[in-house]
Amino acid sequence: MDIFNKAKESLSAAGKGFTQRASDVSGLAKITMKIKEEEKQLDQSLKELGALLFNQYNPEAQQLFPQETENIRQLYAALKQDREEMAYLKGKKICPNCGEELDGDVQRCTSCGMNVENVVRPSQIQAFCSSCGSQLTPGSKFCNNCGAKIE
Ligand SMILES: [Zn+2]
Ligand SMILES: [Zn+2]
Repeated sequence: MDIFNKAKESLSAAGKGFTQRASDVSGLAKITMKIKEEEKQLDQSLKELGALLFNQYNPEAQQLFPQETENIRQLYAALKQDREEMAYLKGKKICPNCGEELDGDVQRCTSCGMNVENVVRPSQIQAFCSSCGSQLTPGSKFCNNCGAKIE
C-alpha cells in the first residue's frame, strides 16, 4: 500500500468515527455542556487574571497596556460615581471609606464608623483631578489624593 492509499484509508476511518460520535446524541449533549462549562471557566479565569494584573501589577500593566488600563480606571471611577448617585436617588448614601450603602440621614457609617455627615452628592461635584483623575472636594486648591494643584 502506498502512502496515498494509507492516507485515504485513515481519512475515511476518521470520517466514520466522526459520524458514529455525532449520532450519539447524549454524547453530543454532554460534550456541548462540557465545552460551555469550560468556556465559562476560561472566561472567569481570564477575568480573574485581568483583575490581578490590574490591581497587583498596576504600574507594569499600565506600561504594557496603557489604553486598556486607562479604560478600566475610567470605568471604575464612573461606576463609583454612578453608584453613589444611584444611592442618592434612592434617598441613601455611600460610605466613601468602605462603600457601604447607608440611610441618607445617617451620620456615621454603620459598617466602618466613619463620619459620613458631609458626604456630597456626586452630581454636585463635577471636578476631577487632571493629574490622577480622582474626584475633587468642591473649593479645594489641591487634589487630596495626589496633591496636584487645581487650575
Ligand atoms: Zn464605611
Ligand atoms: Zn490628583
